[in-house]
Amino acid sequence: MSGRKGGCLCGAVRYELKAEPTVTAVCHCTHCQRQSGSAFSTNMVLQEADYVQHGETKVFEDKGDSGKGVHRHFCANCGSPIISKIDLMPGMVMVKAGTLDDLSTVKPGVEVYADHAPDWVAPIAGVRRFGQAAG
Ligand SMILES: [Zn+2]
Repeated sequence: MSGRKGGCLCGAVRYELKAEPTVTAVCHCTHCQRQSGSAFSTNMVLQEADYVQHGETKVFEDKGDSGKGVHRHFCANCGSPIISKIDLMPGMVMVKAGTLDDLSTVKPGVEVYADHAPDWVAPIAGVRRFGQAAG
């Protein structure tokens, strides 16, 4: 379902998705935990051209476990994480699915970095789960 819309908590940043995500990944890595303030983040991977943003984000320059850059975009007013761009996947954006107006149509396709998931987060039924990056 394309035409999905979302945005940050305060409304300063809004976006629209022009296509289906190529994959939706639930990420249990410690950086996603810290940035989200939650146990995991849910990332929809799209071509940059299919992501249309209104409003400005600030960027925190992070690094993944590959040592390559992870550019974490967030609303400077309310702090909501919006997208990440990673140097390993040029031309793609990873949209934080928790910022969608309607989460009901999101279908996780893979879980990654599950080695860092706490015991109380059960594996998602029918979804491939990797201890580290998807192999
Ligand atoms: Zn905001």
